Amino acid sequence: MALIVQKFGGTSVGSIERIEQVADKVKKHREAGDDLVIVLSAMSGETNRLIELAKQVSDQLVPRELDVIVSTGEQVTIALLAMALIKRGVPAVSYTGNQVRILTDSAHNKARILQIDDQKIRADLQAGKVVVVAGFQGVDEHGNITTLGRGGSDTTGVALAAALRADECQIYTDVDGVYTTDPRVVPLARRLEKITFEEMLEMASLGSKVLQIRSVEFAGKYNVPLRVLHSFKEGPGTLITIDEEESMEQPIISGIAFNRDEAKLTIRGVPDTPGVAFKILGPISAANIEVDMIVQNVSHDNTTDFTFTVHHNEYEKALSVLESTAREMGAREVIGDTKIAKVSIVGVGMRSHAGVASRMFEALAKESINIQMISTSEIKVSVVIEEKYLELAVRALHTAFELDAPARQSE
Ligand code: ADP
Ligand code: ASP
Ligand code: MG
Repeated sequence: MALIVQKFGGTSVGSIERIEQVADKVKKHREAGDDLVIVLSAMSGETNRLIELAKQVSDQLVPRELDVIVSTGEQVTIALLAMALIKRGVPAVSYTGNQVRILTDSAHNKARILQIDDQKIRADLQAGKVVVVAGFQGVDEHGNITTLGRGGSDTTGVALAAALRADECQIYTDVDGVYTTDPRVVPLARRLEKITFEEMLEMASLGSKVLQIRSVEFAGKYNVPLRVLHSFKEGPGTLITIDEEESMEQPIISGIAFNRDEAKLTIRGVPDTPGVAFKILGPISAANIEVDMIVQNVSHDNTTDFTFTVHHNEYEKALSVLESTAREMGAREVIGDTKIAKVSIVGVGMRSHAGVASRMFEALAKESINIQMISTSEIKVSVVIEEKYLELAVRALHTAFELDAPARQSE
């Protein structure tokens, strides 16, 4: 008999019909003999709706109070599922994060899980119950409700699986696995049988929202077997694994990730003296703004241009900090651009292949897409381009790296 943690996302519990379907599925698994801990998201759209309500009261969202509001979405779905299971004759009990005691730090809206008290869950499992836990939420040491950041139910699932030393953590969603890229953007995207933690972590960090970044970090750290599956279609899904299998025909790149979440800032005509990068980025980091990509141009006339990207949400703040730095340094001008996108190719296969970046640049050049910034690491290459070319770029790269699924036979 195995212990399995199953997490169902927002669309999978988006209506009463869906919740009933999940209950049927859980009942079937339970009757097959496994111990089950179920983690649920709020109904799809509910968390957004709650945030909108809060914004109607104040545009200065108070992080602690926002957590009290947004955590309610999951409290509804867990009770509904527990009731649907009990109705089917399956003993079940639901718990909020506070009731399990998923202890987090006090960073409201982006809290980290510190510890999970597994006693209550183990006792219920022993008593033959299915335990249904609210995803996305926890409690800090002072008893305040906290939440784990958008998409955080994935992390609740993996953290519970780690704490309970479950045999597998299954993430059920509206796609049947992890794809070479978002199948909503590239219809020819292919499901991957397996992907390594390292690659999945890059994909998630670079914008693939199929799994929350922290859930992948957690799974890697605690060695939790993790699988992404479709909630209502049978299939093997995608296994996230530790090893890069030698025997498998290793593709050069495994996937393409992208995001529209960044904005670009450029300070032009800065005197090119030692310490210039620090003078520009010091005040940005002092304002708690995280910088992603950075480019400094070659200087001419003893001045240089310096460009970096930040998250969209921090763009206005970064712009005002940079404008004041520009005045102090006597820079020529500050330019901002919010209409950019970042596209990244990811794959452990890059380690053993030269020329991957140039193949990427060639594919983009063929579509006349201008590259504004580049950054690389051992297993990824990212470029910043104009936002309007994003989908074209992703499709072109998907084809150039031979990731397209074979054309479907007409039925
Ligand atoms: P849930 O509500 O179940 O947590 P999400 O919307 O968070 O679901 O994640 C599933 C979605 O992730 C899919 O519908 C898909 O559009 C998107 N997605 C982005 N990149 C990928 C990828 N590489 N593979 C699969 N799905 C992806
Ligand atoms: N309901 C939360 C969100 O929409 C958490 C989750 O679904 O994972 O972000
Ligand atoms: Mg999600």
